[in-house]
Amino acid sequence: MGFQLKGQTIARSMLEHYLSKPAPPLLILHGPAGVGKFSSAEWFIQCSLCEIGTGCGQCPSCRLFARQEHPDYILFPEERVLIGDEKQPAPFTVRWLIRTRLMYPPFKAERRFILIPRADLIQNEAETALLKTLEEPPDHTRFILMVEDLELLKETIISRGVCIPFHLIPSATMSEITGQSDPYILDLMGGSLELSSLILDESFIKLKEKIEDGLGHPMGLHELEIYVSLEKNFQTWKTHLDRSYEEVLDLIGLMILKSSERLPDFPAIADAVFDLKAGLHKRMAGMTHYHLSRFFARLARILFGH
Ligand SMILES: [Zn+2]
Repeated sequence: MGFQLKGQTIARSMLEHYLSKPAPPLLILHGPAGVGKFSSAEWFIQCSLCEIGTGCGQCPSCRLFARQEHPDYILFPEERVLIGDEKQPAPFTVRWLIRTRLMYPPFKAERRFILIPRADLIQNEAETALLKTLEEPPDHTRFILMVEDLELLKETIISRGVCIPFHLIPSATMSEITGQSDPYILDLMGGSLELSSLILDESFIKLKEKIEDGLGHPMGLHELEIYVSLEKNFQTWKTHLDRSYEEVLDLIGLMILKSSERLPDFPAIADAVFDLKAGLHKRMAGMTHYHLSRFFARLARILFGH
C-alpha cells in the first residue's frame, strides 16, 4: 500500500479492490485538497500498469511511469479542459483525446489510464463530448476524475462512475506521515497536507517566532509588519515550494490566529485576520500592501491600544 492512502480507509479498500478486479471505466476521487487524491490515483495507475501488478518500481512499465513517460498514462494539466478545434484539436482537449488516443488500443499495457485532476474545470461542450465517450467507454481505457466537491460535477457524469471518498486525515495519522507531534503544527495543517511543504520548511519556525514576538510587544509587531510586507523574504517559498506570496500571507493569517487563540483579545484579532483575508482574496493589483498596513495598524490598536 502506498503511504498516500494512510488515513483513507474507505478509499484504500476500494482502490485495492479494483486492483484485484477489473476497474470500472470511470472512478471519481473526491474530497478536500491535500489529503492524497492525486498520489493515490497515481499509485493506482502505476500498480495497474505494472507488469507484476504491484507497482514494483523495477519492471520496464514502472520505470517508464517513474520517468512520466508511460505511453498509456495520460495526465491532463490542472487547467480548463476544452472540447478542442474540430479540425486540429490541441493536445489535452477532448477531441484530441478521442481522435488520437481513444480510437486506438493502448501502446503497451492492456489498458490505458486517463487522469483529469481538475474535473471541475471541464468545460460544457467538452463535458458533453466526454459523456458520450463514458456512455460507451472503449474497453481498453479507464478514466479517473478528481474533484474537491462532487457538487461541482454534473449528475450525468457522476452516475457513470464509481465515487471514491477522501477525508481529512486524522491528527495521529498526520503526525505519522509528517513526523510532527507539535499540536500547533498539526492544528495548522488541519488534516491536509496541502500546506505541509510550507509548514515543514525551516523558515516557518523563524516566522512563527516573529509572530509570537509581534503579539507580545509593539516593537515586535512593527518588525513583523516589515518582515511580512517584504515579498522577497518569502522568495525561497516561491522558488523551492512553488507557493505564491498570497498563499504565504494566507498561512500567516492562520498562524496569527493560532498563536493568539489564548489571548483575551482573540475575538477582535480573529475579526481583523478575516477582514485581511477577505481583502487579499479580492486580488486587486497593488492592494496587498494597503491591506497589510491597515491590518497591522488594527492589530496594534487591539493589542497595545495604539
Ligand atoms: Zn512494476
